[in-house]
Amino acid sequence: MNLNTTQLYCLQKMGIDVYISSQGNAIDTIARVDQENIPAVDTGIELPEWKSLRSQVAACTLCELHKGRTQTVFGVGNVNADWLIIGEAPGRDEDLQGEPFVGRAGKLLNAMLHAIGLQREQVFIANILKCRPPDNRDPRPEEVVCCEGYLKQQIAMIKPKIILTVGRIAAQNLLKVDTPIGQMRGNRYEYPDGNIPVVVTYHPAYLLRSPREKRKSWQDLQMAMKIYNSLNNC
Ligand code: URA
Repeated sequence: MNLNTTQLYCLQKMGIDVYISSQGNAIDTIARVDQENIPAVDTGIELPEWKSLRSQVAACTLCELHKGRTQTVFGVGNVNADWLIIGEAPGRDEDLQGEPFVGRAGKLLNAMLHAIGLQREQVFIANILKCRPPDNRDPRPEEVVCCEGYLKQQIAMIKPKIILTVGRIAAQNLLKVDTPIGQMRGNRYEYPDGNIPVVVTYHPAYLLRSPREKRKSWQDLQMAMKIYNSLNNC
């Protein structure tokens, strides 16, 4: 994979050292690249079905989680995205702001996406759950059952070319398996409705706690990009 300076910068941001084989001061150049200079992306036009789904989610009372939420977290990004990123559930920051992955883990997720040449606005980011579980506990099976219809509809409307799940909860619940995430990563899975390839990687919050695992996550991202590029060449 050939990396441009922005991607190299983002790998540094992820905490991954990149070996530069050529002579010269490439690392100095990377440090000066400014992420703010990345151009804005058109996030697509929301169709009436999308708006209606958004309203349904905002009014949802199917499970107990609605009682403790500040607001639902529907998802954010390009409604026509090729890439769908799926996380677990909103945390405190997300519940307050109504947007997924806005805390520290979100910043790392942005850097991971940049590292493979994607901007946050270019992809769509959603969660298995639309409401925050109290004290950031794991989602309960009955909560997942209540919420999964919304995600299914989002996938059907976005029609992504590839899905990247971040973290064990997202991977296991999307693919209906209970395999440990360490065993899942490195494999290509398929989301049955539409035969969409699914790649599994670690959750950015876990990577913040276990920075040594960032290398593995980088391998997963490269694998996902390879699959995506192969789809576009067909
Ligand atoms: N973690 C998640 O899985 N999703 C979010 O939106 C925020 C943190």
